[in-house]
Amino acid sequence: SGRYERPSHTRVFVVANQKGGVGKTTTSVNLAAAMAARGLSVLLIDLDPQGNASTAAAIPHASGTPGTYEVLLDELPIEDAVQASPDIPALRVVPATIDLAGAEIELVGLEQRERRLRTAIDTYLAGPGADIDYVFIDCPPSLGLLTINAMVAAREVLIPIQCEYYALEGLSQLLGNIGLVQQHLNQDLDVSTILLTMHDARTNLSSSVAAEVRGHFGDRVLSTAIPRSVRISEAPGYQQTIITYDPNSTGALSYMEAAREITQRGAAPADQGASS
Ligand code: ADP
Ligand code: MG
Repeated sequence: SGRYERPSHTRVFVVANQKGGVGKTTTSVNLAAAMAARGLSVLLIDLDPQGNASTAAAIPHASGTPGTYEVLLDELPIEDAVQASPDIPALRVVPATIDLAGAEIELVGLEQRERRLRTAIDTYLAGPGADIDYVFIDCPPSLGLLTINAMVAAREVLIPIQCEYYALEGLSQLLGNIGLVQQHLNQDLDVSTILLTMHDARTNLSSSVAAEVRGHFGDRVLSTAIPRSVRISEAPGYQQTIITYDPNSTGALSYMEAAREITQRGAAPADQGASS
């Protein structure tokens, strides 16, 4: 327990994996909530038209609510779209409405179409969001312009990997796209963090997926794995994060621990000594 250490500069994470249902939203929301509950200022950006992260953080996101759509398409400043989460005031959320479903196509014709989120976040962090320690961007399950905007805006990629069959399927495509973004749009982007989700310690399958991922990504994989837990999946139904819904559950404790690991690691391994 106790407060988590503040980073020396704002750390911006994109939570990405083009597979659906691997725990992107659950991870974005609960890491953000865990850090905010431990005294850090956190900005959560919901970039999925489904708005599941907004729901879990109890942020209204009916069509027409100012959110990421307006930030991307109308250049609405983030401070005019952000809402404090009612249960955790240090968690600020830019909600996603269903209007965002059209943004992928509407962005195509616009100038700076890949950099619009970056511009918005940089402007916010240089002004009203100067106190923000961590930014988490929850991506939709695709590698389209919304995810590209997030990858251009972020410095670190966090990839949740579900400990299930076909866990590694599609990862080479994801890494390939990250490589293209690094080459052409954001050379500072780094795959700093892998989080194993829906881990079931009782099954050989979970253990072998975990071992394979650790073999491939080494110390980028957090030592904490998130267990499969009914409580985690129930929380959004009550417009709660697991951190507030059941703070002593194994799910809450594991997200708290994963969050603490991230804060202790400082910046990415490639970024030697930058945060020390
Ligand atoms: P994504 O954003 O990648 O599509 P979600 O975070 O929405 O994935 O998770 C997919 C589903 O799995 C959701 O119903 C969620 O509640 C559930 N879920 C996520 N993590 C866990 C977990 N550790 N244990 C049990 N259910 C989980
Ligand atoms: Mg999601």
